[in-house]
Amino acid sequence: MTDIVKQLAAALSADQVLTDDATRDSRRHDYWMRSWLADHQDNKNPSPLCVVQPHTTQEVSDVVKLCRKTGTALVPFGLGSGVCGGVQTSADQVLLDMGKMTNMVSLDETNLLVTFQAGRNGLEAENMVAEKGFTIGHWPQSIAVSSVGGWVATRASGQFSTANGNIEDIIYTIEAVLPDGTIINTGKGPRAAAGPDLRHILLGSEGTMGVITQVTFKILRKAEKVAHTAYHIADIPKGFDFQREILQSGWRPPVMRQYDALETKRNFPDQAKDDVGMLIMVHEGPTSRVDAELAAIQKIATEYSLEEADTEAVSRWLDQRNHVPTWTEFLDNGIILDTVEISANWDRIGDVYDAAIAAIKEMPNMLNASAHSSHGYANGLNLYFTFAGRPEESADMAKVYDAGWKAIMEATAAQGGSVAHHHGIGRVRKNYLEHDLGAGGIGLLRALKAALDPDNLMNPGVLLPDA
Ligand SMILES: Cc1cc2nc3c(=O)[nH]c(=O)nc-3n(C[C@H](O)[C@H](O)[C@H](O)COP(=O)(O)OP(=O)(O)OC[C@H]3O[C@@H](n4cnc5c(N)ncnc54)[C@H](O)[C@@H]3O)c2cc1C
Repeated sequence: MTDIVKQLAAALSADQVLTDDATRDSRRHDYWMRSWLADHQDNKNPSPLCVVQPHTTQEVSDVVKLCRKTGTALVPFGLGSGVCGGVQTSADQVLLDMGKMTNMVSLDETNLLVTFQAGRNGLEAENMVAEKGFTIGHWPQSIAVSSVGGWVATRASGQFSTANGNIEDIIYTIEAVLPDGTIINTGKGPRAAAGPDLRHILLGSEGTMGVITQVTFKILRKAEKVAHTAYHIADIPKGFDFQREILQSGWRPPVMRQYDALETKRNFPDQAKDDVGMLIMVHEGPTSRVDAELAAIQKIATEYSLEEADTEAVSRWLDQRNHVPTWTEFLDNGIILDTVEISANWDRIGDVYDAAIAAIKEMPNMLNASAHSSHGYANGLNLYFTFAGRPEESADMAKVYDAGWKAIMEATAAQGGSVAHHHGIGRVRKNYLEHDLGAGGIGLLRALKAALDPDNLMNPGVLLPDA
């Protein structure tokens, strides 16, 4: 047993420091397609030295301090559903598994707040709140396989974001352990002019700036009325304009998803019409507001000469929306694929769509280039591209994968979009981050990291671009 393993076992208890092969192997990486490919091609990244499972914030602080003292790198792990390579261990690193920190600390029905330890499974958290007639209102597709701390660490978005906001809008306070072991609690009161908002150092920090130990969410009362609408969208830019008009008029259907023709056919085979796309919406809230929103959207749709589609498409999406696909079948068939989400202002989004789809199609051996939008704002929209390719040689799969990402990242940046909407940065996107932050922003991020974590021990290799 190495020194650090012994010291961790002495600081916590022996059964909280796991060194068996199965546990270490199961937490070697997250859901990143490239790590799955590496496993498939017998090129696995090594297991961590050990897996530590703290129960309390104080124990997290003790672990962090010990790692700092011994110069040991530490990788925080929620539930491993990240898709950008935020978790990828090496043999000399300690993996900090938040899986035993799952308590609901408090539910405050007067102030509409709920607090969970960071390792709580997202769907379990939502169900516990729902039992009392509330909702957190944050529904990533991965809700059943992600942790509430992971949502904060990756700056996640849920499917109902257009009305409920993204995680930064839903979070109230964050408790965290900084890389020197200090415990902090950021955010207090419904709003504060108390200097820079320190929550944002942790939101999207992906384990590089500290360990999130506890999160308090704002919660919502259950909606009084829910309604569904759907429209055929023959012309993609017209669909974007329709969404813009709805949002800029002040309406907020929590779910607005516009699929291009290829994705419409794939997702809604029974409701799709010819070769055209579709927009589906969910409306919810107080009855009078939902009724007013439905009437207003109907009027805008008439002005845009849009044809209503069968709302069975919305029910179908609701039924299937939290499906978590496995990559294995694709890899077995020599197919490499991924989904890449970006965003852009309204006046750029159409060009981003055209440029990225064209860039994927230009690549050899591509099987799919398609997209949908799923998060709308008064100022712009996200797009979620899917690319898939089958190279002639399986040895070229990683090359094709990297080229697919490069094509979308560069097309987006060239058209003035933002290269990351909600999956975070991890390893796959870190060398494209400068497109969003600029050289000055990268410099500031490096300075912040160096000040907090001078020895670069907290999740090294993630978020910051290669030197
Ligand atoms: C099928 C599928 C669908 C998805 N759909 C969505 C979606 O709709 N919206 C969306 O936003 N994302 C989505 N994701 C991505 C992923 O689920 C999110 O990024 C999620 O927030 C990760 O949570 P996790 O607990 O699994 O984190 P992990 O994968 O364990 O970790 C992710 C990163 O955060 C760090 N981290 C985790 N916990 C902590 C902590 N407590 N303190 C500090 N750092 C920590 C890790 O070191 C790592 O860098 C999807 C993923 C899959 C596989």
